[in-house]
Amino acid sequence: MSYLQVVTKADELLKIRSEVGDDVDIGFVPTMGNLHQGHISLLEEALNNHKVIFFSIFVNPKQFAPNEDYSKYPRTLREDLEKIERACERDCKDKNTQVVVFAPEDGVGEVFPKGYATSISVGGRISEILCAKSRPNHFAGVTTVVYRLFAMIRPTVAYFGMKDYQQMLIVKKMTEDMLLDIIIKGMPIVRDNDGLALSSRNAYLTAEERKVALILPKTLNEIKKLILESESELEKFISDKLLQDKRWDYLQVLNANDLQPLNREKEIIALGAFRVGNTRLIDNLLIYR
Ligand code: AMP
Repeated sequence: MSYLQVVTKADELLKIRSEVGDDVDIGFVPTMGNLHQGHISLLEEALNNHKVIFFSIFVNPKQFAPNEDYSKYPRTLREDLEKIERACERDCKDKNTQVVVFAPEDGVGEVFPKGYATSISVGGRISEILCAKSRPNHFAGVTTVVYRLFAMIRPTVAYFGMKDYQQMLIVKKMTEDMLLDIIIKGMPIVRDNDGLALSSRNAYLTAEERKVALILPKTLNEIKKLILESESELEKFISDKLLQDKRWDYLQVLNANDLQPLNREKEIIALGAFRVGNTRLIDNLLIYR
C-alpha cells in the first residue's frame, strides 16, 4: 500500500510540496473529479512512473460559461477517494510511493484566492477552432487553472487524456511558450464496452440518450474506414452528416500534430462534438493513413 494523503488546503499542499524537495521526479494528474476508469488510467500510468504523485480534484469555475453545468457538475469526493485508494493498492509498484490528493472541497479560494487576477490563454488557430467555437472562454479557463496548479505542484510530468485532444495540445503549447520544464503526456481514450468514451458527463444521459450517444464513436469509426478505403468521399460524407443531423456541433478531420487542415501527413485525427438532449459529448479517433 502506498502512502496516500488527502489535503483540502492550498497551504497544506504547498508545505507537502516543499518537503518533497526539488530533486524528485513528480507525476501530476489534474481532474475535476467524478472519477471513472479514464481518470484512473492516468493515475495508473503515473503510479508506473513516479514515486511521488499529486492528483487534483477541482471543479474549475473558470472553464464553465454562465449557461454551462458548473453548479450541477457531479461532485463525488468520497467515491473518488475510494477509487484512488483501490488503484494505489492495486498498482503501486513500490509501497513507499507517496500519493497526494489535492481536493479543495471548501471552495474555489484554495486555488484562486481573493484578489487573484491573472488569466493565461494560448492564442492562435488552435484556440479558435472545434470546441472553442461554441465555448469561447473555455480554454483560457483551462490554461489558467492548469498553470496555477503547475505553479503549486511543479511536476516533472503531467498526464492528460487524449479524450480532450484540443485541450491537451493547448496545454502543451502553453508549457512550451512559458518555458515550463514539464512534460505533457497524452494518454489513450478509455471507452465503455459499446465504444462510448468514458466521461463524467455520460451520467447526465438517460438510457435512451445513452444509445443515441453511440452515433458519435460510430461516425468517427466510419470516417476512419472511409479514409483507409476511399478518402475521396470523405468531404461529402462529413458535409452530409453535418447537414442531415443538427446535433453535430462539429465533425472534422485534421492533422493530428497541430490540428491544421489536412495536407499529406500520415497521422491524422477525426474529431466530433455531438449534442444528445442537453448534453454535449466530445470524442476523437487517431488515424494513420
Ligand atoms: P476532467 O475531470 O473531465 O477534467 O478530466 C481530467 C483528465 O482525465 C483530462 O486530462 C481528461 O482528458 C482525462 N480523461 C477524461 N475522460 C477520459 C477518458 N475516457 N479516457 C482517457 N482520459 C480521460
